[in-house]
Amino acid sequence: MFPIVIPLFTKEEFIKTFSYFLSSFLKIPEVASLKRKLEISFSKKKPSLIWLQLLDCAGCSEKLIRTKEWPLFEFLTALVDLKYHELLMFDTGHSAEALLKRILTEEQGDYLLLVEGAIPYRDRGRVLRVSGEPVLDFLVRISEGARLVLAFGNCAVNGGLPATPPSPTCAIGLPNLLGTERVISLFGCPGKAKALVALIAYFRLFETLPPIDRAGRPVIG
Ligand code: SF4
Repeated sequence: MFPIVIPLFTKEEFIKTFSYFLSSFLKIPEVASLKRKLEISFSKKKPSLIWLQLLDCAGCSEKLIRTKEWPLFEFLTALVDLKYHELLMFDTGHSAEALLKRILTEEQGDYLLLVEGAIPYRDRGRVLRVSGEPVLDFLVRISEGARLVLAFGNCAVNGGLPATPPSPTCAIGLPNLLGTERVISLFGCPGKAKALVALIAYFRLFETLPPIDRAGRPVIG
């Protein structure tokens, strides 16, 4: 489904590098403990991640994939099964729709949902349809079965550039639709890729979320 990624590290080197990244970003000095937690977490089944792209420029995805300082994309895909990503996956059209339907049905309550890009609110979302369903209804429906709902990048958080007047699509952010208590917001243009990876790692390693402020932002890093 996805292009083959050639591993650049041995497993041991990878876990060590990931531990140092988490230690520095989350300000947790116990590297050995992080290493153990990563090993345990890698031995468990990974949750699926559905990554949707709405009114976006793909810059948030590009930033994650192309960051050179740390292998962030490899870190992320070690933590989650990135089953659906419109920019990266081979599936298109009907086969992509079938894949999404399968994840939503078979992994109800387990999958993670990430939205990149703003939501066109015009005509109650009817200007953008997913498998014929207005995007607002689609997002409400699929967020109900998600363990975690993330808005990644300014466009997804508050409408960003697509919401700039006169915004012909009447773009809004995901928290405007679902509420700040349901959505974790990662600001930035592009979205902060390190914070995204650290947040998902925190969720997998500690089986809980870091503190979240009133704007829905994780207090990490
Ligand atoms: S937040 Fe910035 S980089 Fe991300 S989709 Fe919007 S314009 Fe592009």
